[in-house]
Amino acid sequence: MTLRKEKVERFRKELLSRKNFLLQDLHQTTTDLINDDEIFFSDSVDQASADAGKTLVLQIKNRERASISQIDDALRRIDLGTFGECEKCSEEITEARMKANPSTTLCIDCKMELESEEHRFPNRAS
Ligand SMILES: [Zn+2]
Repeated sequence: MTLRKEKVERFRKELLSRKNFLLQDLHQTTTDLINDDEIFFSDSVDQASADAGKTLVLQIKNRERASISQIDDALRRIDLGTFGECEKCSEEITEARMKANPSTTLCIDCKMELESEEHRFPNRAS
């Protein structure tokens, strides 16, 4: 029990530092985007590549925002005490799996079961 709590606390610290990193990066790309606008206004010849660059930055930002909300979900589950617990069967999710994907809510068995169901009924009418 104590060990599990220590493990969870270690995850919390890792998640928080990852979130801080993403927030800083998100702020950085926003600053870059503003700088790009200045270039865009001073040199309209390169409009196409400026637009392409902006699209790319927006894609990265969206991905980072999604990651941050996933981390927030994981942190919320840590507070609730359900972090690392399978939503479906209440078994403990392996540490390796939580490390690879901290926002996961299913153990590998349930995840595989879910995927095989989706595979078996790919066009199931709802
Ligand atoms: Zn499970």
